[in-house]
This record gives sequence, C-alpha cells and structure tokens, in this order.
Amino acid sequence: MSRPFKTTGIYITSGINRCAYHCRYCQLTTIKSSKNITMDRFTAIVNRFIEYKHLNHLEDFRVDFWNGYTYDCSLTDFQKELDLHKKVGDWELKILLLGGMPHMEDAMLKQWFQDRKHIGSEFVAATYLGCKDQHDYWNNKKGNFEFLTKAQKIASRVGLDNVQRLLLTRSSLNHMEALLDTLDSLEIPIKERCAYPFFYSGLARHYEDERVTLSLLENQPERIKAIYRNDKEKWKSEQEWTEYARITRHKYEEDSVHLVLTDENIERIESISCEAILDDLTHRTQKAYAIVPSQEELAEKYADKTSEKIYMFLWDMECLWLDRYLKEHPLQGFERALTHFGR
Ligand code: SF4
Repeated sequence: MSRPFKTTGIYITSGINRCAYHCRYCQLTTIKSSKNITMDRFTAIVNRFIEYKHLNHLEDFRVDFWNGYTYDCSLTDFQKELDLHKKVGDWELKILLLGGMPHMEDAMLKQWFQDRKHIGSEFVAATYLGCKDQHDYWNNKKGNFEFLTKAQKIASRVGLDNVQRLLLTRSSLNHMEALLDTLDSLEIPIKERCAYPFFYSGLARHYEDERVTLSLLENQPERIKAIYRNDKEKWKSEQEWTEYARITRHKYEEDSVHLVLTDENIERIESISCEAILDDLTHRTQKAYAIVPSQEELAEKYADKTSEKIYMFLWDMECLWLDRYLKEHPLQGFERALTHFGR
C-alpha cells in the first residue's frame, strides 16, 4: 500500500446552516444542505465522540466539527454550537462568515450582529473577488458587493472587528487597486486584510486559467504586494512543488477521519457505537488511499514541470495531479471525499 492511513481523530460535518449563494468559484462544494439534521442531533453526535475520547483516555485524539457555511440559524442553535466549540477549545465561532448570508435590511442586520456578538462572536470576515460588478459576477449574486461592504460597516458600528479576504486571480488583479480604494473608503478599522490565490478545490478547480504566477504577483504595485497573506513565502509554483514533493513527505495520511452527516445516514450513525463508526471510516479511508498513486509517483508522472502557476499547499498540488491521473485511470468506487484529495 503506497499510502498507509492512520486515524488520529474525527472531523464531523453537516450542512445544517445553508449557504444562500452559488458562487461560481465555490471552494466548498462537498457539503450538501441537510433538511432533517437538527442542531440537537448534531451536537449529540459530537458529544458522543468527546465522551468516547475522555472515557478511553485518548488525549491526542482530535474531535473537530463544522456545521456549514454561515451561522444564520436561530440564536438558540447558535448558542448550542458555541458551547460545543468552547467544550473542544477551538475558536471557530468567534468568526462570522459573511459569505453565504442572506441579504437583509440594515436594521435586521444590525440586530443579527448584536445578537451574535452578545453570545461570543468577535469579528466578521468578507471575501472579495474583484470589485463591484466583477465581484457580483463571481459570487453569482447581484448586489453582493454592496451588501458585504455595508455589512462590514454595520459590524464595525456594533463593535465587531472586520477581516477582509481578497482573492488573487488573473482577472481580479486588474481591479485590485479599485477594490482597495473602495474598501479604504469605508473608513472602518480592519483587524486583518489579506490576499491569496484560489485553493485547488471545489468549483475553483475549473478556473486554472485564472491562477496567478509568481512573476505576476511580484510585478504588482507595492500596495497590493503589502497585503499578500503572511505565508506567501511558502507558496510555490507547480515547478517548485514537483521538486519539493520528490524530497519531502507530508503525512496527510495520518489524519482525522471525515464523518459527513447527511439526511440519508444520520439515523444509522445515531444507532451505532463510536467504535463502529471509526472502524468503518478508517477501513474505507484506508481503502481509498490504497488505490491512488504515491506522492512521488504523482509528482513524477502527472506534474507539469514547467508550470509557474502558484499553489499554496502541497495538498492543492496533489489534488491537481490526482485529477490528471483520474482522467487517464478512472477509479470505480473511489471515495475521494474521505481523503485529503476530497477537500
Ligand atoms: S458563499 Fe462561500 S460557501 Fe457559499 S457558494 Fe460562495 S464560496 Fe461557496
């Protein structure tokens, strides 16, 4: 087996909180909306795994979860999810993702922010791809740019911090100065503003012609270069990742198994033990990894060793290489979503 898999935790997801948009580049298409999964059912399953961890003294076993795209649920459910995040000691609910939120009137939006700030939210994050019409085109929602900028102003007024994430694509770079001018003109304090390329995941995988190169990034005005995310030094071209993958082994195969709760499987998951769930997922994940080529083989045979396009992580790169492999060798029954190739 070229990629022996070892389970180090569980990552539980569901689509309780639905996304209201259909962005053309959505990098998160793997979670489907759930109609029958309530917050109580979701938290009960996460709590079972937290108990399982403690009862079995598995200090290093991770229990993580994520519940959809936006926290546009009832305040009672929001509180339940917040309590769960506090229990596992992560920070997730401090952030309110504005992407995916339904558009609403100013007064309602202000109340929405105030309610969530009251029970623990600390900042809002908006993602921009280009300026005004260009952003609306990519987000596939007319008026979204205006909504996001307005939401950031209202969030600031109620005392929430603001984060701005700017996507770097070939076409958005042409409008980046205009975008910065518009965001600066909001005159709100910004906790963080950073820019980075597409992940190679979800629908963004269809826009490789939009992927930037290092030389393109380096030839931008200082004002734009100043907001590249602080891990930029680690981004590499495909050419560089190919060499890196040849000599450096990443342990993506020691990871949490991924439990996706759906309307179809929730009853079965509720009726079986944590051990049975982990055994099943571990077995299926091992099976999925067993039929894909090794990192070295993918790099050797499926990399474009001349490409200067930039990818942020080795897993991005491996996903592209695997796509090229699968075009030549379609794999029947391959459960990609269980592996890091399914991000
Ligand atoms: S708002 Fe986010 S999750 Fe929703 S479609 Fe757009 S990118 Fe995807």
